Amino acid sequence: MTVEKILAKLVSFPVLGGESNISILNWIKDYLETHGITVHLVPNEEGTKASLHCRIGPALDGGVILSGHMDVVPVEGQEWSTDPFVLTDKNDGKLYGRGSCDMKGFLACCLAVLPQMIKADLKKPIYFAFSYDEEVGCLAAPELAQAINTHYSETPKYAIIGEPSMMEPIVGQKGIYILETYVNGSAGHSSRIKQEVSAIHEAMRLILWLENRMDRLIANGRLDKRFHPPHSSIHIGLVKGGIAPNVIADKAHFYWDLRTIPMDDYFDIVNEFETHCRQRERELKRVFPGFSIKTKENHPPVPHLDTKADDDIVDLIKRISENSELNTVSYAAEAGQFANEGFQSAICGPGSIAQAHRANEFIAKEQLEKGMQMIDKLVRELSSEKFT
Ligand SMILES: [Zn+2]
Repeated sequence: MTVEKILAKLVSFPVLGGESNISILNWIKDYLETHGITVHLVPNEEGTKASLHCRIGPALDGGVILSGHMDVVPVEGQEWSTDPFVLTDKNDGKLYGRGSCDMKGFLACCLAVLPQMIKADLKKPIYFAFSYDEEVGCLAAPELAQAINTHYSETPKYAIIGEPSMMEPIVGQKGIYILETYVNGSAGHSSRIKQEVSAIHEAMRLILWLENRMDRLIANGRLDKRFHPPHSSIHIGLVKGGIAPNVIADKAHFYWDLRTIPMDDYFDIVNEFETHCRQRERELKRVFPGFSIKTKENHPPVPHLDTKADDDIVDLIKRISENSELNTVSYAAEAGQFANEGFQSAICGPGSIAQAHRANEFIAKEQLEKGMQMIDKLVRELSSEKFT
């Protein structure tokens, strides 16, 4: 099958993050099995979703994992000019469809090069690691990366995550943690603002505390010039509370996210915030004994990626992508999770992140070609006796 035919097939499965991915999973599994590959599944508890992994080549240490996710983001509310789940060639050098770029394009490249991988005399193995629920917080990758470590007797050395990067090697990714904070105050007539505790007023103070915390990090020189922006960010994206101008709000909540550079730890910042909240509770319980502030995870944290310039994968990814410019990103991806399992990791894949998650998402045919070429080069590298 050509890469375009495979991509068209993958795009035709409208599997969104959070939904069952059994349809697309089974198609990929069949495709691999038709080529004689043994496929292993890492299912969720209910058996409604699964990641898959497989090995092509010898059971030897030092192989390379090619990783991608099978789910996509929704199309609701977006103005598509074609059916998002039908890969459409408008004869402008681009293929349109949800997931064409993020990131079924890379999966299609992996699957299209599979016959060459099988034919090649690989001295080190290649693994496919395809996950689900990436788009709702990189939920499945930790278990998948762990499963690869425990399932095989040999140990892979590298992981390439094929997120759209215009084939630029990405060696750094910020850590991301999304949280929800709930403030419980006391209701009353607005004139009694000093006798009650407004949940809104306190939520605003907490929001300012968080913004000041970010500014202090910057002022203290916590900067990593590889990233844009070079500092950890703290941002509040949703605030709700209150019912009327003349009623003191007894409830307010806000959602916030932390995007941390590798030198900062999101848990440290959250712990400091919690300490501050406990102190505020002690103070405000004097006015209203039922006062409370509770913070909970909106999504499990996604760890940062901090691949060092002298790690072997940097040379490898530069060679096979034919691109020596290294870059970093501030979006969530599974690379840090693979790195946490001990695999040297980098992001590099076809298509641009600028096209991801929006209406009329597309991948340039030229990018698909380049994605195939990279994997092709990898196959040649791994067929060489010299590869370490
Ligand atoms: Zn993606």
